Amino acid sequence: MPSRRAVLAAALCLMPAVSRAGKPAAPNGGFQAFVAALRPDAEARGVSPETFSAAFRDITGPDAGVLARTKQQSEFVRPVWDYLVGAVSAGRITRGRARAAALAQTLKAIENRYGVPAAIILAFWGIESDFGASAGSLSTIRALATLADAKHRGTLFRDELLSALTILQRGDITPGQMSGSWAGAMGQVQFLPSTYLAHAVDFDGDGRRDIWTSDADSLASIAAYLKDLGWDPTLSWGYEVRLPEGFDLADYTGDLSGFAARGVRRADGKALPGYGKASLFLPGGLGAPTFLITDNFEVIRGYNTSDSYALAVGHLADRLDGGPILAAPWPTGPRLDGAGLRALQTGLAAAGVYDGPTDGRAGPKLREAVRRYQIGAGLPADGYATPALLARVQDRRGSSR
Ligand code: CA
Repeated sequence: MPSRRAVLAAALCLMPAVSRAGKPAAPNGGFQAFVAALRPDAEARGVSPETFSAAFRDITGPDAGVLARTKQQSEFVRPVWDYLVGAVSAGRITRGRARAAALAQTLKAIENRYGVPAAIILAFWGIESDFGASAGSLSTIRALATLADAKHRGTLFRDELLSALTILQRGDITPGQMSGSWAGAMGQVQFLPSTYLAHAVDFDGDGRRDIWTSDADSLASIAAYLKDLGWDPTLSWGYEVRLPEGFDLADYTGDLSGFAARGVRRADGKALPGYGKASLFLPGGLGAPTFLITDNFEVIRGYNTSDSYALAVGHLADRLDGGPILAAPWPTGPRLDGAGLRALQTGLAAAGVYDGPTDGRAGPKLREAVRRYQIGAGLPADGYATPALLARVQDRRGSSR
């Protein structure tokens, strides 16, 4: 019977090669074999033997800390309001405004070239790396090699590792300076290597796309990526709004002018623009902060798919521009955890209104299903998943059997 440790190693796909004597080879033998097998694929992509050797010169084995991070799967789903407290803190707003003042000329030039507002660019920069102050100090090559060797998420990280080696081959950065966070997101903008290759730009004109030490390249790379994702310069990301008494939530998409005509008002008292499409987003349900979000909100989700992230970027941008705190209070009632959200997905699928994965993730697809269920049940269609809603969905399933 294999030892617990051997079972674990096999589960991680890190089983070391076994020698003829039946003893495991050197602990990093598997890793070295992975690196050796990677070399021809890298060279096929134009990475020279010298670049490849330099990239791995100081890397003797996988990073146990990176592997440990892949095992952290919390059942706790952090509510958007908790996330906002950290992402849009008073300190971050102060630091961001100071950076905006110091980099005003550069930001203006980037805004003019890519059509993305300076405040939006700054908000991404602030959330990804606290304006460059915490870009992550792990070796990107070692982190990606660790994840690729462990076959975490299939071949994704092996492909990213090959992209990282391509960046080194181009001479944009040295192996020692190519750093970032545990899952391979690099530098001040936290691009994966493939995102970097497709979207990063050299804005300061020194011939290198440097998202590690150049503020101008970092800011412009964020803007270029958003432009490539389809940022519409004529639209905001969205607005916090107040709904009039008796508003019909079942009709939640349309023109901003149409919402204004139905009595929807911006929470800050300013007028809604007379053009553009939007939809209502109630991340805390009816009574909590309510937003009209535009297609640019989806562009932000192209950078990071989390609703909380997108809302934090939009709200931080508003705050950096001098906008107010959110007007409505967040809910304090019970919430669904990951298991609860999966149960709701199962229940809504059985009710015929949900066909997405049973992954316990709250996002646009689940929100849409909740709305459909609520409309069918004659409930206010805020799209917000609560324990009460889960109980009702499960109760209906039980009674229909
Ligand atoms: Ca540059």
